[in-house]
Amino acid sequence: MCGIIGLYNNPEAGTFAYMGLYAQQHRGQEGAGIVTCDGDKMYSHTGQGLVSDVFSDSKIFDNLKGHYAIGHTRYSTTGENNATNVGPLLFNLGDSFISIAHNGNLVNLTSIRKKLQKNGAIFQTTTDTEIIIHLLARRTEPTLTKRIAGTLKEIEGAFSIIIISKEGLHIARDTKGIRPLCFGKLNDTIIVASETCALDLLGAQYIRDINPGELLTVNNFGESSIQFETPDKNKSHCIFEYIYFSRPDSQVFGENVDKMRRKFGKTLAEESTIDSADIVISVPDSSNTCAMGYAATSNTKYEIGLIRNHYVGRTFIFPNQRLRSLNVRLKFNTVKGVLDNREVVLVDDSIVRGTTLRKLSQLLKDAGVKKVHVRISSPPVRYPCHYGMDFPTKDELAANKHTVNELAEIIKVDTLNYLTIEGLLKSVSLNKDDYCTACFSGEYPIEIKDKVGKEIF
Ligand code: SF4
Repeated sequence: MCGIIGLYNNPEAGTFAYMGLYAQQHRGQEGAGIVTCDGDKMYSHTGQGLVSDVFSDSKIFDNLKGHYAIGHTRYSTTGENNATNVGPLLFNLGDSFISIAHNGNLVNLTSIRKKLQKNGAIFQTTTDTEIIIHLLARRTEPTLTKRIAGTLKEIEGAFSIIIISKEGLHIARDTKGIRPLCFGKLNDTIIVASETCALDLLGAQYIRDINPGELLTVNNFGESSIQFETPDKNKSHCIFEYIYFSRPDSQVFGENVDKMRRKFGKTLAEESTIDSADIVISVPDSSNTCAMGYAATSNTKYEIGLIRNHYVGRTFIFPNQRLRSLNVRLKFNTVKGVLDNREVVLVDDSIVRGTTLRKLSQLLKDAGVKKVHVRISSPPVRYPCHYGMDFPTKDELAANKHTVNELAEIIKVDTLNYLTIEGLLKSVSLNKDDYCTACFSGEYPIEIKDKVGKEIF
């Protein structure tokens, strides 16, 4: 998962891109970068770390010249976490440069990569994003738009893409609309971003989402849109964007994320309430509104029982298990006056490995909690994601190895229950066939042609 942004027609495009990345920092914390263009030359700055680290010196923006820009916050799902893989990647294409910011995962990258290498391609990175550029370089259509459209037909999987060239911005989304990509305007400036929270920060107005299968070109002549491919009958929006990944103040797939999370909490309470509980608390921040929905429906008081240190990144984004386990205590502390001698419902959004919840239940017991009941606002995650979410291998997923009761024992809680898939799909507004639920159901909406990333079946 990554956060991307593109801006056109703004004298401070580089600075605005930086702000848009700041709003989307939660989508990737391994690296960040911006490429700008003045219609002739391109200017780039990328680095590993948080947006504030990579762009810590205001002089950087003096060099990011031009009236249009793209930006990227990286979270590696294919390719290692290293400096070469940090986007936006910049390539020499014929007589000019081109750069690309990509959110999502391709599912046919290994076979394409092998074919390209056989034909002499030399790769600079291990990302799937570079493959798109190699394919583009080989196309012979008469215009760049047509070449991009032809390239997009060759790739399969989840992609929300912003390309910057001398000709302008080229914006596209896969035919199933798996990852979000929204379009907005601030006076004459056009802005495209993964989430609407970036538009809000910049004071821009949300206009619409980029449609599945759409290729939108923005340049000096205005906006022109084509369908590079007919969209699939059903969309496959990633339902995990609502559960965990997107910010609650964003609008994603036409719905407010906060509203969706409250509904998940409400349905979860309808499915498994605890009458004897004194209070409901959340694992902050992604579960806050869900816990409020749960508390309101179960008629139990909502309290702040856990405090999160906001200067530490999300646990399961960290690259190895040792760092992840240390990170839990860095991230959370208990409010003992709220928790002491209470029976508590702890609402969390998901269980991946179970490490965080095991440590949190111990923290709660140390704070004097009598009983801990864990309620999860998503179904058990049993299958890896091939479309851009960095879940571990199937063997490492806690719900794949253990029954619910076994897991309750392992994480040392009194009871554990999940939201059912039926309950999840009942809570969302589109038809249930318009969402991807593969990590819960194992039903992948796009065939997985190549095993990628950290997946081992
Ligand atoms: S498998 Fe899960 S995380 Fe991946 S796209 Fe589908 S719903 Fe989202």
